[in-house]
Amino acid sequence: MSILQKILLVEDEVKLGKVIQDELVLNGYPADLAVDGLEASRLFTRNTYSLVLLDINLPYKNGFELCREFREQNKSIPIIMLSAAGEIHDKVEAFNIGADDYIVKPFHFVELFARVKVFLKRAELPTDTEKIIIEDMEINFTNKTVVRNGASINLTAKEFTLLVLLARNKERVISKQEILEKVWDLNFDTGTNTIEVYISFLRNKIDKPFDHKLIHTKPGFGYYIK
Ligand code: CA
Repeated sequence: MSILQKILLVEDEVKLGKVIQDELVLNGYPADLAVDGLEASRLFTRNTYSLVLLDINLPYKNGFELCREFREQNKSIPIIMLSAAGEIHDKVEAFNIGADDYIVKPFHFVELFARVKVFLKRAELPTDTEKIIIEDMEINFTNKTVVRNGASINLTAKEFTLLVLLARNKERVISKQEILEKVWDLNFDTGTNTIEVYISFLRNKIDKPFDHKLIHTKPGFGYYIK
């Protein structure tokens, strides 16, 4: 992947964390999820992130400690605290520990994305010029085109969305359920073979003309790109 802006999300309520992570990914912000303070430290040290979303009450190291720690390592990375009511009393308190902003839980995703957008824009890496490059395939979000090995590939809107979902989650197996929810906006299995059909459309266009296949099936689990 090229200039994708990756977010570190620290949230110990695993279910909530996964929901936020999925929403971020779907909105074009790939995110790693850390479910405790130690994991957060480890990920932050090992990877390069563009922004941190940081819960406060966490096992092993709390959000305040982490915030100070991250600030010492990186002066400019935007840090947004995810605070439960009462954990932060005012903005000054959040700023004092080195955070750039805070959002009180429960929040609306619209609000979260608005803040994330503002801070990432400030970092001057606009997401609308985003590209994903996997091997010899390039997905361009500005003009919604896909080029493989120099040849442009024509995809329908649904095929494009499906490809982007797989590509943004490179090497992660995406279940049919997840594809239904994210590409078709359905939260139930319609019992039809829509997904198989679309995967085969995609394969015909993306993989068939080339020796090296990018789209893979994990039988019984789903699909992934590699
Ligand atoms: Ca917590």
